[in-house]
Amino acid sequence: MSASPLPLSLPLIHGLTHAQLTEICRELDQPAYRARQIWKWLYHRFAADWSEMKNLPLGLRQALAHRLSLASAAVTRSQSEAGVGTTTKWLIALADGDWVEEVLIPARGRTTLCVSSQVGCKFNCAFCASGKAGFRRNLETGEIVGLVVVAARNLGAIPSNLVFMGMGEPLDNYDAVLAAVRIINDAEGLSLGARRITISTCGIIPGIQRLAQEGLQVELSISLHASDDALRSRLLPVNRKYPLGDLLEACRIYAEQTGRLITFEYTLIQGVNDSPEQARELARILRPIHARVNLIPLSTVAEFEGRAPPAPVVREFLNILERARINATLRISKGGGVDAACGQLRRRHESDLKL
Ligand code: SF4
Repeated sequence: MSASPLPLSLPLIHGLTHAQLTEICRELDQPAYRARQIWKWLYHRFAADWSEMKNLPLGLRQALAHRLSLASAAVTRSQSEAGVGTTTKWLIALADGDWVEEVLIPARGRTTLCVSSQVGCKFNCAFCASGKAGFRRNLETGEIVGLVVVAARNLGAIPSNLVFMGMGEPLDNYDAVLAAVRIINDAEGLSLGARRITISTCGIIPGIQRLAQEGLQVELSISLHASDDALRSRLLPVNRKYPLGDLLEACRIYAEQTGRLITFEYTLIQGVNDSPEQARELARILRPIHARVNLIPLSTVAEFEGRAPPAPVVREFLNILERARINATLRISKGGGVDAACGQLRRRHESDLKL
């Protein structure tokens, strides 16, 4: 009884809430504790096959296998930086043969897993490989939860933090991502606290507005990268639909309604967005918002010709924000050695297949 050959047409068990699984067990005339046993196999032992669930009667395992798919994603390719405690990037094969990526980043006593929410992406941001590859489909809730389970299985432990910064725009696949967050957050399952989960967006305003109403303590991160509309529209075409002023107002309201601090990601690109005037403008537009800025000198990527500014320019940009009392940190992008811009490993795998 192997999980992998089962068709994707069966609902994925990782897409069910604990309550939904309990209901299925009830329909199969099973006592309530069976759902708890299965939940533990899924999220404490990261089972990949029904046959592993030895404390379940064989008949129940067979009945479950006919109703639900345990078809979990599988790591098909792995890249790690040299050294101990370094970034690892996995190419994950989905049950329908498509691929997504995830990156495991150990830093400061944490293990952060960067997961995907879509296969490809519609938004075509300037320095992102996923956008260049185009959009294929949304991931289902069960596939997103499955990505975390696959990582936990390979790591032998549940990652301490989760960021939706892989392939795809999470707020463009809102319902599936939020349902996945609630399952990942389940105290009897993976039990990853909402504050350890970050949803990163290129600026989908309706998604930010919906997220404010969820009552979840997740972290919100905005890819900003520019302090004026003209430049931001060049770097992130989504800005033409959701311009900077509207985005910042949505963020201000979000921070007010949730009491949460918003992180703004600002990738520094030499000669493009790294001048003292741009730093002052960034400080001015963020002043009304309960915000933190992450400055990230650009990692070299094949898709974009820009480069990181010299260290003194980066330092001066940071100093200007700090003098303006903006909470700002300098972050060195980890994973540059493992094709870490989202979509790169997948594209390399596809081009290898074409050879
Ligand atoms: S940065 Fe994110 S939103 Fe932009 S193209 Fe890449 S995956 Fe899509």
